[in-house]
Amino acid sequence: AQKTHTELAVPGIGSITIPVGLFIDNEWVLPANGETFGTVNPATGKPLVDVAHASAEDVDRAVKSAREAFHTRWGLRVTGAERGRLLNRLADLIERDAKTIAALESLNAGKGISKATNGDVAGTVSTLRYYAGLADKFYGQTINQFGPDAIAYTLHQPIGVCGQIIPWNYPLMMWSWKVAPALAAGCTIVMKPSELTPLTALYMCDLVKEAGIPAGVINTVPGLGATTGEAISRHMDIDKVAFTGSVATGRRISVAAAESNLKKVTLELGGKSPSLVFPSADLEQAAAWTAMGIFWNSGQDCCASSRIYVHESVYDEFVRLLKAKAETCAIGQPSDPATSFGPLISAGQRDKVLSYIHSARDEGANIITGGDNWGTDGFWVQPTVIGDVHQGMKVVREEIFGPVTAVGVFKTEEEAVKLANDTSYGLAGAVFSNDASQVARVTGAIDAGTIWVNQYSSVSAGVPFGGFKQSGIGRELGTYGIEAYTQVKAVHQNI
Ligand code: NAD
Repeated sequence: AQKTHTELAVPGIGSITIPVGLFIDNEWVLPANGETFGTVNPATGKPLVDVAHASAEDVDRAVKSAREAFHTRWGLRVTGAERGRLLNRLADLIERDAKTIAALESLNAGKGISKATNGDVAGTVSTLRYYAGLADKFYGQTINQFGPDAIAYTLHQPIGVCGQIIPWNYPLMMWSWKVAPALAAGCTIVMKPSELTPLTALYMCDLVKEAGIPAGVINTVPGLGATTGEAISRHMDIDKVAFTGSVATGRRISVAAAESNLKKVTLELGGKSPSLVFPSADLEQAAAWTAMGIFWNSGQDCCASSRIYVHESVYDEFVRLLKAKAETCAIGQPSDPATSFGPLISAGQRDKVLSYIHSARDEGANIITGGDNWGTDGFWVQPTVIGDVHQGMKVVREEIFGPVTAVGVFKTEEEAVKLANDTSYGLAGAVFSNDASQVARVTGAIDAGTIWVNQYSSVSAGVPFGGFKQSGIGRELGTYGIEAYTQVKAVHQNI
């Protein structure tokens, strides 16, 4: 039966009432056609709750609310300082409810509870606070090159109504990366969380209302990609769509945007990020960072260190160290505070990852450690390191989105850079070397939106993030992130 709220037993919290409806105009409503979809606990494979499935008609209702809010209650009607105040208030409420939110994220996405708390929830709060601070500090320019009688200046104006479509690997973080800069810029939102992980984005809605963010500023329409997502990307009154997810879906969204009203598009897509390990590197550190890069979030990370190229002189030693890291990953139930490595999101994802491992075996690669599923319930794959790979193998060419890294060898710096760039992706890369001029040369030469030097995985609200090549269009975070939700108006004025 249709309902807007339901009971759910959340580990560490107890039975709580959570929203499972559509959030439009700051109210919980039911979908016009009464459809729902199911969610699943990835650690057990058992069903969690059914959630409302927004139809195209519901999306249209959400867009109307967002449009009305943009013109009357947000956009140019509210000062940047006021938008910043409300974003900070929302961050306060997330901090107040952090324990429940982290537990819900852990349950729905299969993340270790400690990581959900210290990574996902803390990161969400810091992104909101960063953009709260930026909301009244994103200025235009004055151009006074016309003598005493004329001036030109620029205004940074909000783009308008934004559709936001996010994936399941970091449901809360991706929510904050989209929502915070859009609200800071003065845009209003129609948000579609992933159908696999809608629960925390829905939980946020009550906090949005409690924070005092006006009705219609953030509408949330859970649903499937092919229906709800498609309705957003084809809608004639959405001014921009911001998307994080796979290259295939990004391409579809781009086409839908172009074929409808030519809405603006920001795409954060996949990756096949290379790590280069040079002989001067601290190998123990390089192994620790690359292991974190691939096994964090069980490899379900767009910038996972899924290709590692090691100088031939240190290959054996590096592989020995990396194997040890893989074998000491804290695999366990998401609700256990000691767990750092949880299940994959779905049976489909587990099977896809295992099929990549099988293909590597068939192609003659060496499975150094891991290579199988883990446990009996839920969707787990062991931390896996594959050696003796070459560029033709599927595990080297395609994004696996699981805890599987492929390790290859290089002889010269030039070859290392060539191997790193031999991909259609360009999201991230890492350089492990203690030769400063080599670091500068190689960092400059890798085609990727983020390079980590002697570290991995650092992401911060103040630093831009996004892809070269087919890893995406545009940037999120930092001042670039708010720019992506504004448009520049040039004004020429006679004095
Ligand atoms: P996905 O593309 O399958 O789905 C992402 C979102 O798009 C979901 O909300 C889904 O419902 C929606 N969607 C699916 N089909 C759609 C359509 N036709 N029209 C509109 N929306 C549609 O991706 P996923 O499997 O959820 O996430 C994994 C992918 O995301 C990986 O490729 C990963 O690299 C990428 N990713 C990228 C970043 C980044 O910042 N670059 C971050 C996280 C994940």
